[in-house]
Amino acid sequence: MERQLYSLRMRASRGGHHQSGAERVIAAAEVATVTAALMARAMNTSGPPPDAVHCSLECLEPASIRQAVLPDISTFLVGGWRAGRCLANRLLVRAGVSERAASRALELLAEGAGCEGSVMRGAVVMNAQTGERLEGDISRGVRVSRMDLASEARPAIEALLAAVGLGHHRVIEALVLAAKVLGAPGIVAELCWSDDPDYLIGYVADPRYGYQRISNLKQQGDLRGGRVFFVSLDRALDSLLEYLERRPVLFTALGRINAPRDWYDADE
Ligand code: AMP
Repeated sequence: MERQLYSLRMRASRGGHHQSGAERVIAAAEVATVTAALMARAMNTSGPPPDAVHCSLECLEPASIRQAVLPDISTFLVGGWRAGRCLANRLLVRAGVSERAASRALELLAEGAGCEGSVMRGAVVMNAQTGERLEGDISRGVRVSRMDLASEARPAIEALLAAVGLGHHRVIEALVLAAKVLGAPGIVAELCWSDDPDYLIGYVADPRYGYQRISNLKQQGDLRGGRVFFVSLDRALDSLLEYLERRPVLFTALGRINAPRDWYDADE
């Protein structure tokens, strides 16, 4: 008999504003410990604690769960956030995003993409050519859910990532999220940097070059951040959103891990 798995989702907020969240896919025996760990993570923020934390659990239909491999990982070391954003722009254009859409996305994340410059709970979905925003609700955005490392593959993947300094849960969860996004029908690329004021690393992901980390995409202390998913609209938006929000995917193996390299902007 196939093992029953559950989607566990955590959301923490304060004053109605999103603070943190997590998505896991786990077996029944792990529910209590993983829920406690996510609750502890939600409470251990560097700033004021959340005033609400919600954890929800939902069983998954075993036949609906897909397996896939994680994307290749690259790391670019940049001199500062301006150089980082310039590189992000170039990587997005290389992936097939128009100059206009890439610049608009960088501006949106810099200004706060939610209502009145707030941080969104989920991601912006953007037409990769025109830069038009396609997500219905601009404070919620689209939340990617129901993805994780396959539990039997987790120890080996975590050990390999830890050996190259990428073993933190933040990196693993971002890699898993990007991996799910890259498997979406019609996806061209993704741009992300965190809303954590002390976490300056972000990434651009695309189906050809994989998960490309950029060592600095924002100024220290900046509370703004977010995600933009660039899509080509020759595919139906409904099936893309259904895949991102509902379709369970477990990742069973790593891609290639490339050595970090310096990147200098010739125009700076
Ligand atoms: P984080 O990398 O957790 O700091 O998240 C940075 C931003 O990415 C958040 O403020 C959200 O806007 C967005 N985000 C976080 N988790 C998800 C998710 N599961 N799906 C879509 N967007 C997300």
